[in-house]
Amino acid sequence: MSKGGNDIACGKSKLEDRQQRAYAVWVSEIMLQQTQVKTVIDYYTRWMAKWPTLKDLAQATPDDVQQMWAGLGYYSRGRRLLQGAKHVEEKLNGRIPETYKGLLSELPGVGPYTAAAIASIAFGCVKGVVDGNVLRVLARLRRITQPIDTTPVQKAMQALSDALVDPSRPGDFNQAVMELGATTCTPKAPNCTACPLASLCQSHRLHARAATGKTAVASDPTCNLCSSHAIADIATTDLPRKKPKKQSPVIDLWCLHIRTQRDKVLLLRNPDTGLLASSWTFPCVAHTEHATPHAAVGTLLPSVKKADVVHTNHVVEHVFSHRKHRYHVLHVSCGGDDEVRCSDDHNDRSQWVHKTRVAATLTTTNMKKVWEKVKAWRKKQGGGIVAALKRASSTPAPRP
Ligand code: SF4
Repeated sequence: MSKGGNDIACGKSKLEDRQQRAYAVWVSEIMLQQTQVKTVIDYYTRWMAKWPTLKDLAQATPDDVQQMWAGLGYYSRGRRLLQGAKHVEEKLNGRIPETYKGLLSELPGVGPYTAAAIASIAFGCVKGVVDGNVLRVLARLRRITQPIDTTPVQKAMQALSDALVDPSRPGDFNQAVMELGATTCTPKAPNCTACPLASLCQSHRLHARAATGKTAVASDPTCNLCSSHAIADIATTDLPRKKPKKQSPVIDLWCLHIRTQRDKVLLLRNPDTGLLASSWTFPCVAHTEHATPHAAVGTLLPSVKKADVVHTNHVVEHVFSHRKHRYHVLHVSCGGDDEVRCSDDHNDRSQWVHKTRVAATLTTTNMKKVWEKVKAWRKKQGGGIVAALKRASSTPAPRP
């Protein structure tokens, strides 16, 4: 067994137990990426009730998974879980790889952290996990002051975690460090006096010495990760440090709520790759100087000669990890009872959905927010786009 976890013997538990545990850890770890535990608990419970084994999950459809994932965000995670389950069933004889390397190379959506968590917790492999909580504990423990979101520091952190993990109980050790970061070594209020690592922790020792007027511990001149670790004015809560953030770009979009007089609402399915892949959305077009809502409706519904558009000042903002969208909501009446055929470019991925089914069809938080805004607006307007058009027909289009 190598300490780096690349050449690994597994624990001795029964094959079925290990495999079932690996499936459960896999689901929970993927859900916990970018999402808080308290949010995940309900999703995890419902997921495991619906698909208690990997075999059950492998028989699900992308729509089933999309529905189950609704509201959890980062939808590609659910899709990759499904792809992974199918891959294991179809290509790996239903067996999840039992090595760190195998997990990393075979399972879609499984990166170093998730592979290490599954390998150590389910299979007893000696591999350190490095998540946000572990990074914080290690950065403070060794007083690493260089930004942790750089490749050399991340590699060093993984090596440190691998070196520290207890070979006799790697899964328990990893979970204990993660728990310590979540409950004791918290970002803003580390409880050092209650911490079992206090006597080993360089940050704690440095500040304890500084508080009593003693000289700070000496820095290690050979270390380029912690070369300034003796500087007491870097507070423990400043660690771990990160590179300065670039500001997320803001993207303005027209978001079209297009409805027939029989309360059918037009939705489009996003492409199968990219942001919010495969989910249903209100039609959105770039809100630029030159684009007009009428032109957008004309492109989408070429047979509609005259669409009535209500401009409101309703703007829904949604922040993704790397950008912010501002949806400028427009209400459009096509002037008829019937559903209108979309252009050839859009028709295959369009559907007219009755208003009572819109909430269930939209699975992403950004579009659910838009729908709430639409409902509130209609309630205020007395329910009808046509009535609203009469009142607001000459409202000028807002500009970003
Ligand atoms: S002693 Fe304090 S700073 Fe160090 S690991 Fe424990 S809680 Fe974190």
